[in-house]
Amino acid sequence: MNPPITVSITGAAGQIGYALLFRIASGAMFGPDQPVNLRLIEIEPGMKALQGVIMELDDCAFPLLNDIVATSDLDEGFKGANWALLVGSVPRKAGMERADLLNINGQIFTGQGKAIAANAADDVRVLVVGNPCNTNALIAMNNAEGVPNDRFFAMTRLDENRAKSQLAAKAGVHNRDVSNMCIWGNHSATQYPDFTNAKINGQPVSEVITDSGWLQGEFISTVQQRGAAIIAARGASSAASAANGVVDTVRSLTTPTAAGDWTSVAVCSDGSYGIDAGLIASMPIRVDAEGRWDIVPGVELDEFSRAKVDASVQELRDEREAVVSLLG
Ligand code: NDP
Repeated sequence: MNPPITVSITGAAGQIGYALLFRIASGAMFGPDQPVNLRLIEIEPGMKALQGVIMELDDCAFPLLNDIVATSDLDEGFKGANWALLVGSVPRKAGMERADLLNINGQIFTGQGKAIAANAADDVRVLVVGNPCNTNALIAMNNAEGVPNDRFFAMTRLDENRAKSQLAAKAGVHNRDVSNMCIWGNHSATQYPDFTNAKINGQPVSEVITDSGWLQGEFISTVQQRGAAIIAARGASSAASAANGVVDTVRSLTTPTAAGDWTSVAVCSDGSYGIDAGLIASMPIRVDAEGRWDIVPGVELDEFSRAKVDASVQELRDEREAVVSLLG
């Protein structure tokens, strides 16, 4: 057995947390030979519910679950973290402007960035799920002095999975036959699920699905609006699929990417694809055998794609502008 990995999770008693913790403890995230320590972080009002979740974790008797700490203290919560999964954030309430939401959450992610820098392990990697996740990650990154920018990620993998599933259903193939699906930009309604570079059984999607009106219209809007459709159907926001997106993201960042393929995750841009350096934007990412990631170069963006990517990047610029005072 390997020595345990320490995973810190904020919002641990929330819906996504409830679906996520059991997957991590079961080995779905780090594999069947990797024990885990869970450091579960909640705000005070969530601590009682968190105790209930811990009772359930105990009742699973997971062989890989080495230790559990529950806390509302950030320093304690991020102590020794190899992975920090930042799931908790304040939901948008009626009448709240996006700028208000950015600022409320901005304060949270400022503190979390600092606490990660002060307490986490040297190899810490940070995945932000709590919305608005790209800009929350930007704030955490800019407040985590000494932690390299390439350790910060924001989740767009659920969007990628949704896009693959929609393309597979339309083409009458299995999800696993769809590759090279990239979500570009912001995890928001401006995100661009790039069907122009995606492939079905190695063939360009547009050669398999010839209905370009569907690809440019209904496909994109279905992926962009999928969260709202789930709320309408289930009466609650997506949680199990979001947790699965977290598991998939971490697995993709810790295992080599299949040759020629890529995955979607928002990273700190180096200026690639005309995306301002320093913004946290979703791009095609690949991971090598040593576990290093880079932005896949040379993906062609046609005029349609370029306009979509630019619109989403503009939204990220506007979000950055709204929180510029929090960026240290
Ligand atoms: P969820 O567990 O359902 O969601 C948590 C966050 O994930 C939200 O910001 C949500 O965004 C986001 N998210 C990202 N992608 C998705 C997706 N595809 N589907 C659904 N959500 C997505 O929220 P709960 O309210 O159940 O739980 C939040 C927990 O966080 C609570 O236990 C609360 O106590 C805690 N919390 C912690 C804070 C802190 O750490 N300081 C601050 C506030 C709350 P969206 O809202 O847009 O759906």
